[in-house]
Amino acid sequence: MAQQTSLALFGGKPVRTKKYPPHITTDKKEKQAVVRVLNKGILSDFEGSHNEWFLGGSEVKALEKEWAAYFKARFAVSFNSATSALMACVGAAGIGPGDEVITTPWTMTATATAILVNNAIPVFCDIDPQTYCMSPASLKKKITSRTKAIMPVHIYGHPAQMDTIMSIARKHNLVVIEDAAQSPGITYKGKYTGTIGHMGVASLNCHKIIQTGEGGVVTTDQPEYAKRLQLIRNHAEAVIATGMKVNTLVNMVGWNYRMNEIEAAIAREQLKKLKKLLGERRKLVDYMLEKLRVYDGLILPTIQKGCGHSFYRFLLRLDSNKIRVPAERIVQALNAEGMDFYAGYLPLNLFPVYQKKIAFGKKGCPFACPWYKGKTDYSMSGLTNVTEAMKQSFSTEVIRPPLTVKDMDEIDRAFKKVWDNLHRL
Ligand SMILES: *Cc1c(COP(=O)(O)O)cnc(C)c1O
Repeated sequence: MAQQTSLALFGGKPVRTKKYPPHITTDKKEKQAVVRVLNKGILSDFEGSHNEWFLGGSEVKALEKEWAAYFKARFAVSFNSATSALMACVGAAGIGPGDEVITTPWTMTATATAILVNNAIPVFCDIDPQTYCMSPASLKKKITSRTKAIMPVHIYGHPAQMDTIMSIARKHNLVVIEDAAQSPGITYKGKYTGTIGHMGVASLNCHKIIQTGEGGVVTTDQPEYAKRLQLIRNHAEAVIATGMKVNTLVNMVGWNYRMNEIEAAIAREQLKKLKKLLGERRKLVDYMLEKLRVYDGLILPTIQKGCGHSFYRFLLRLDSNKIRVPAERIVQALNAEGMDFYAGYLPLNLFPVYQKKIAFGKKGCPFACPWYKGKTDYSMSGLTNVTEAMKQSFSTEVIRPPLTVKDMDEIDRAFKKVWDNLHRL
């Protein structure tokens, strides 16, 4: 009996010994879709010239049509990742040297890297302590004459406060690019995240809610942005040289950010499963939330009014007035029980690229670019809620299928063991 209750961290028997199963969202439907493409033998049908192949093959075009219809957007433009999609969005918005783009440091690196590769400067604002998304109050304080865009992130799948963000953007004439990588299918006041700003990006990488292995899709209602995104995706400079007309050559350096036919065929099937996959996740999350309610000092994720939540990650937090044990120690104890938690998060401003202000070459570009008249501040000052969240939060990605209620009960047992032994940690 004593063995059962003593923490695995101190030599007791762990609650779980099996590894967690991988995240698999595909079945025979995707297999049939892939076979359909292979039977045809055309694995990609893009060409980087101004001709009928500029916009890709039939699967890519079908995916974009279906994606736009599903999300009620005028245009959808597919990419080979959400990272390349974000880079293209910043480029399509015409952002470049000397410009600032405001985002939060509590996100995946690609959000800010998309700004950097366009030679612009990421400015980090604080987060909301409840949703971990951009704090509109902090955002307002960061706006300067150099600000050109805002990139809110619907982190963990909870929508950012888009109403306030859009009204700030309108007032200052700023472009809004939503990083909706973690929130496909999640609505904010009746509209899909990713379709509220001027452009929005979903990710289809293997970890996300729906996936093609690697992939991303931008939605936009503005034809000019759609066209520029299509150009940046597919060797813009070559396409323009072969006859396509553009209104402005700014940022028309193109890449190969194209999605192939197999990925697009899989994505079309995945889109049909989005609602079901979100629903299955939510069931497990609701069950888990009910179980975890009893642990004193454990702050559970919330869902704000008018918002959905994909729970891409399940983030918990310690009330430091009640629990003196650091989150890192709790995570150690939980993981010794066979769980899969991560403590805190390293905010992007603390990454070497920002701390040392060296991105391209050795001369400090783009931070030291002569066109840039501002002064970057990558310290933690003003990032009060980020600082707190770093210390107190911990999260897991496993509250999702193929896990079951039985696995949730196991997680609950691990929490019970740890909470019963908090005084020993
Ligand atoms: C996953 C993710 C990305 C990048 O997506 P990829 O498709 O892997 O390039 C960008 N932003 C956020 C918030 C993400 O979670």
